[in-house]
Amino acid sequence: MLDTATLRVALAVVDLTLLLLFFFITFRRTRSAYSGCWCLALLLFLVGNAAYLLDGTAQQVWANPLGNVLMVAAAASIWAGARSLRTDLPSLWYLAAGPAVTAVASVTDEPATNVWAGGLVYLAVMAGLLGLACRELFLLDRNYSRVHRALAVVAGLLALFYLGRVAAFAAEGRDGAVFLAVFGSATTTLLSAVVLVVASFTMAELSNEQLTQDLRARATFDGLTGLLNRAAFLDLAEHELRRLHRARTAGSLVLADLDHFKAINDEFGHAAGDIALQTFAKACTSTVRSTDLAGRYGGEEFVLLLPGVTPEVAREIAADVSRRLAASRPATIPRLPTVSYGIAEIVPGQPDLAALIASADAALYRAKILGRDRSVLAGSPAEEKSA
Ligand code: GH3
Ligand code: MG
Ligand code: MG
Repeated sequence: MLDTATLRVALAVVDLTLLLLFFFITFRRTRSAYSGCWCLALLLFLVGNAAYLLDGTAQQVWANPLGNVLMVAAAASIWAGARSLRTDLPSLWYLAAGPAVTAVASVTDEPATNVWAGGLVYLAVMAGLLGLACRELFLLDRNYSRVHRALAVVAGLLALFYLGRVAAFAAEGRDGAVFLAVFGSATTTLLSAVVLVVASFTMAELSNEQLTQDLRARATFDGLTGLLNRAAFLDLAEHELRRLHRARTAGSLVLADLDHFKAINDEFGHAAGDIALQTFAKACTSTVRSTDLAGRYGGEEFVLLLPGVTPEVAREIAADVSRRLAASRPATIPRLPTVSYGIAEIVPGQPDLAALIASADAALYRAKILGRDRSVLAGSPAEEKSA
């Protein structure tokens, strides 16, 4: 059996390797709070573990309490990282409480001669902080990721292990048979190495998952308005048209263009123009159903695909959007633009998206010519003021 000091050196090598890998591969790419917290935990753990190597030397008097404090600080950092996935980081006072209590208990327990100075407090605080980390991970939504539950289980098992150490230490002291055989420094050091590896790889996987989700969202949604971007809209609309075609269901496609939008930019500035675009997007999403598609087609042009909706009803929906827009009063823009709409009917059997958009565009053009702030149905002479 290897002695504890040798195991500690091996653990330090594992820890340092993981720290370098995690820092350069995961943290630098994501800069997320939890990966930062994990790097900090690995670093604190590395230095704390090294401090214990001075046990039995003249330096033990400060190195042993320092080791305890750094280990507890590492556990506090793990708790902070777990919490950052769900909500804000804990306040610094809460984070400092564990290390502070451990410091007092260790320093006042003859650290020059006692390698287990403040041992009971140290073990109890470790169990508590790991338990808190486990709780945060379990409180996360089940669908948050594929791997956070595994992290929760690892944190929970480790918290239980520390609880076992607390119980054995309290019952029999540092030289008790159970404490030495099951919960001693050698077992803990080995277990720590395994946990560090498992947790680091699981967290790297979590980061990859989040990056992929982020990229997918950027490829799908318009950054300013949150609506589908043009490419994603066209993609989904093609799909939807084929579905409508198969189901022999009609529908409507609506192109919307904000009126004299350039004047909004010129009068109130580009930032105000952006807010007008966002306000219009919000008016669209709060009017249409979740099964409708809403996209930003170009600068100040938007497109809606409304399955199962006749052009007449689509015109009412367009009027609703305009009413909602006019009723919203964003603080930073004195006046909102009106909107013109071109509406094309989706006829089952003609699933040609390009032709549909071209015909809605022609109707929109007529709406502009006829004085704006209205909707025009494609292929019909009828027109109506929308507001
Ligand atoms: P019309 O009623 O004929 O549609 O006139 P308009 O001024 O709305 O149309 P025009 O095509 O002349 O101007 C559109 C303007 O939209 C010009 C462009 O600077 C602005 N625009 C496009 N994208 C954005 C954006 O993301 N933010 C802001 N603030 N303005 C944008
Ligand atoms: Mg335009
Ligand atoms: Mg316009």
